[in-house]
Amino acid sequence: MRLLNVAGRAVLETAEGRVDVATASSGRFGPGPQDLFEVWDAFRSWVRTARPVPVGAIDGPLAAPVPRPPQVFAVGLNYGSHAEETGLAVATDRPLVFTKFSSSIAGPEGDLVLSGDQVDWEVELVIVIGRPARRVAPEQAWEHVAGCTVGQDFSDRAVQMQGSPPQFSLGKSFPGYGPLGPALVTPEQFADRDDLALRCQVNGETVQEGRTSLMIHPVARLVSLLSWICPLGPGDVVFTGTPDGVGMGRKPPRYLKPGDTVVTTIEGIGTMIHRCVAGSEVHQ
Ligand code: ZN
Repeated sequence: MRLLNVAGRAVLETAEGRVDVATASSGRFGPGPQDLFEVWDAFRSWVRTARPVPVGAIDGPLAAPVPRPPQVFAVGLNYGSHAEETGLAVATDRPLVFTKFSSSIAGPEGDLVLSGDQVDWEVELVIVIGRPARRVAPEQAWEHVAGCTVGQDFSDRAVQMQGSPPQFSLGKSFPGYGPLGPALVTPEQFADRDDLALRCQVNGETVQEGRTSLMIHPVARLVSLLSWICPLGPGDVVFTGTPDGVGMGRKPPRYLKPGDTVVTTIEGIGTMIHRCVAGSEVHQ
C-alpha cells in the first residue's frame, strides 16, 4: 500500500489512480493521514477487503505523509562510511539518538529556507510506527512498523556543533529541516525491506549513494532498543541515519546555497525535491 498526503487529506495511491480515504470509507477513516495510525490495523484490513477504486482525479500539493508525529527519533552515525567522514568516534554497541523537534516536519516538495551558510544534506530512511511498541524483541520489531518514507535530516552544522558538549537536536530542527514523503509505503511492498538504495543529489550531482543494508543498527534493532526506553506509539517516526557524502565531510566542506536544488530518493518509495532559498532572519 502507498499512502499520500494531498493537501492535508489521506489518499491511497493505487494502480488505477488516487483514492480519498475519508470519502471511500464514508468517513470511517481519515480525513488526514495522521488520523490513520491510531487505527492502523483496522485501516489496513479495510483497504484489503474494500479494495476502494478511484472516482475522480485528486490533485493538490503533497504534504508529509506523517504531518504531526508525536515523537521524532533520529539516529546519528548509523553507517560506518559516514561515521568515518565526520571523524567522530562511533560506538557500535548503542546507537547515538537525538530528536528533530516536530515543528521541523515538512512536505516532499517546496522551498528550504536556509538558516545560515553551513546547512548540510542527509538522505535517510524514515520508519513510521503503527502498532504501539513497548519492550519488543528485534524479531518482532517490524510488526510495529506501519511503513517507510523518504526523509532529509537537513542540518545547520554551525548550530549542531555549538556548545560543549554539542547537542544535535536544535541545529536539525529549523522549520522545513525534516521533510518527509512523497509516500508512506508499507513494508511488504519491498523485495527486501532491509536493503533499499538511497541517494541524494545537489544540482544534479549525486552526492550520497548508499544502501540501508549497511546500517550499523538496522531498523529492527533500532525499534527494539528505543522501545525499551520510550514507549513507541502510532505515528511516531524514526530517522535511521545517513550514509557518507554529506557536505561537512568534504575537503573543503560544501554547504547548501540559495538556488541549489536537493533531490532525495529511496528505491521503491520515491523522490523529494527541495529548492534552497535565503533566510530573511539571522539566528543567534
Ligand atoms: Zn541524520
